[in-house]
Amino acid sequence: MHLSEKIKPFKYCPACGSGDISFGDMKKIGCRDCSFTYYHNVAAAVAAILEYDKKIVLIERAKDPGKGKLDLPGGFVDPKESAEEAIKREIKEELKINLRELRYLGSYPNIYKYKDVIYHTCDLFFYSKIDAIPTDFDKTEIEELILVHPVNAYIELCKLKILSFRYSSSR
Ligand SMILES: [Zn+2]
Repeated sequence: MHLSEKIKPFKYCPACGSGDISFGDMKKIGCRDCSFTYYHNVAAAVAAILEYDKKIVLIERAKDPGKGKLDLPGGFVDPKESAEEAIKREIKEELKINLRELRYLGSYPNIYKYKDVIYHTCDLFFYSKIDAIPTDFDKTEIEELILVHPVNAYIELCKLKILSFRYSSSR
């Protein structure tokens, strides 16, 4: 099967039901019958590198995709939301803490697969120090919080091919 077939979000035109649709460039679906066009755009996502006592906070995922894997806390940016608002919201939802100050580190292209649909994402990474280890975290999303030395955090994240499994919640 061709890659563009695998990542096609739907098989039929949502407007007219025709199966004669194209998905050549992996971001735009066009219907040859009614000329309906759908842009499967890159999704913005955020992740936090949280430092506590010279260690980095990783989460063990409580559910799929990537159940049992280590990851950074984070998630997708919602409509009408800035990346800064998104990372604060995700950390509040997942770890029940408020981030005081944030530093933007950079971004990285990534792939997120959910229910056989592949989303290309642009992950924006933020850094923040925290004063205490969160204990009241969302147990439906997070099995456990793990504090690791930054070198080990780097290795764990490389194992995930920089975070392929993340972004649990909303999708
Ligand atoms: Zn159509």
